Formats: sequence, C-alpha cells, structure tokens
Amino acid sequence: MTTRDFESTDSKPLDAGLYIVATPIGNLGDVTFRAVDVLRRCEVIACEDTRVTGKLLKHCDVSTRMLRYDDHASDRQRAGILDLARSQPVALVSDAGTPLISDPGYRLVKEARDAGIGVTSIPGACAAIGGLTLSGLPNDRFLFAGFLPVKEKARADMLGELAAIRATLIFYETGPRLERSLNAIADLWPGREVAVARELTKLHEECRTGTAVQLAEHYASHPPKGEIVLLVGPPVEQPEKIDADTMLREALLDNSTGKAAGLVAKATGLDRKRLYARAIELKSE
Ligand code: SAM
Repeated sequence: MTTRDFESTDSKPLDAGLYIVATPIGNLGDVTFRAVDVLRRCEVIACEDTRVTGKLLKHCDVSTRMLRYDDHASDRQRAGILDLARSQPVALVSDAGTPLISDPGYRLVKEARDAGIGVTSIPGACAAIGGLTLSGLPNDRFLFAGFLPVKEKARADMLGELAAIRATLIFYETGPRLERSLNAIADLWPGREVAVARELTKLHEECRTGTAVQLAEHYASHPPKGEIVLLVGPPVEQPEKIDADTMLREALLDNSTGKAAGLVAKATGLDRKRLYARAIELKSE
C-alpha cells in the first residue's frame, strides 16, 4: 500500500489545534501515513509556498485548502492562523523536512502554546538527522547550529564559539558556500573529521568524509550541486589536553602575540588571557 492509497481507520474528527507536519526532504516516499492522514483531515494547511506543497498534496491525494505562512508573515496573519486553530485542526508544513528546523514556525508554535492552543508534532524527515546518521561521526552528543553566517567575521566568531563543544556539530550549507566553510573549518580544526552529506534521500545522495582540507580540495574540483548538510566531529582531544604550546608556537610564526593568543583561544576554547601570558613566555624562551 502506498501513502496515496492509505485510508485512515480513525473516524473521529481531529481535535482543533496546530499540527506540525514533517514532509519529505527529496524522496516523496518518505511522507508518513500519519502525515497524510492529518493533512487530509485538517481544515487548512499553512505552508511556505503553495506550489511546492501543492505538488506533495497532489502526490498524496490530499485536497485540503492551503494558505501561505512564512517568517515574513505579519502579526495579523499569524493571529488569523491561531484563531482558526482555536476551533479547527490546522496543519503547518514547510517546503521540505521538519517545520521550525531552519524553517518558519517558531513564533506560531510559541504563540499557540502561550494561548493554550493544542500543538501536536507529526515527526518525519529532517536533513540534520539524516546527515548525522549517515556520517559515521559520533552521535551520542550533537549540536545543530543551522546555517553558518555568510560574512567571514561572523562565521569565524560562530565557529570560535563552538570550538570547545565536545559534540558533533551539524550545519546546513549550500553548494556555493561549501568550499569557504570547509576552508574556515580547516584553519581552525585541521585534525577534526568532517562529513559532507549531499542530496539526502535523492538519486545522487552522497556522504563524503575526511578532513576539511581533503574535502575542500575535492569540492574545489567537483563543485557540489544540490542540498548539503555539513558535519564536524568533536574535538580530537579534550581542550585541557590540547598542546596549546605547540599551537601557540605555530601561530606566533605569522602573527602578533595578541592575534596568536586569540586564534588559539578560538580553536581550543581555552582562556585567551592565559594563552596571551603563555605566548609572551614562549617568545622569550
Ligand atoms: N526543515 C528542513 C529539515 O528538516 O531538514 C531544513 C530546511 S532548510 C531551509 C534547507 C536546508 O536543509 C538546505 O539548505 C540543506 O542544508 C538542508 N537540506 C534539506 N534537504 C536536504 C537534502 N535532501 N540533503 C541534504 N541537505 C538537505
């Protein structure tokens, strides 16, 4: 049986409220039976783009009315959806994957909860989790950090903030920006294992692993197409065991004392002032 042929045996109407419905991230076969059931039985589906969601609904034989909702929606539009959800079942979907995860919906859910409106999650595909499970990187602890900033300084600041976290880091990425992000990661964490999970659930799905330098080299000659999850394994050693002296000596070759201390602090998460003092000692040796 396909999801299209699926017919719910539940004859009870859906309760009023907001239903957060995950949809596929490429392969339409990943829509769940429960997602189809809820989308059919809701009064209205709030979606980012009616053309994108319309294709999924057609595939699943769902004829529920759609209305647009995205991060640019006005307070009035959001209040309108919440008003509907007080008396009717309203679904929220995004273009692909799990709503709210680097997608619209946070404010809607927060305000629904604050207003005492029932909220139900219908889980399903999420690129971050697909990439993590495929990567072979440690998954006992992970931190999803969304998209890396485009501007160099903001990107370096964000990576610096995450440096000391002992978990696999997960980022969403785009093809044109991948090489720059890999180079930034290579500068900070040359030893960490990195994975690029691309086109998950689609025909050309691939997951390539290596150091950031190796992957940057590969993608420099094979410009990546499609959608990408970038994952960075946890620090190879615990921060306290990192040989800060070696890193400082290397950094001092090309940088002032302050800059060297700052770079090593960013890369390791160690205290910048202590590194600065140690760098002065090393310079006088
Ligand atoms: N809400 C979605 C989810 O649950 O994964 C993510 C939406 S976000 C706007 C889109 C980003 O997710 C893409 O730029 C890419 O980084 C990632 N992504 C979505 N689909 C993907 C896929 N099939 N393969 C790899 N990455 C994907």
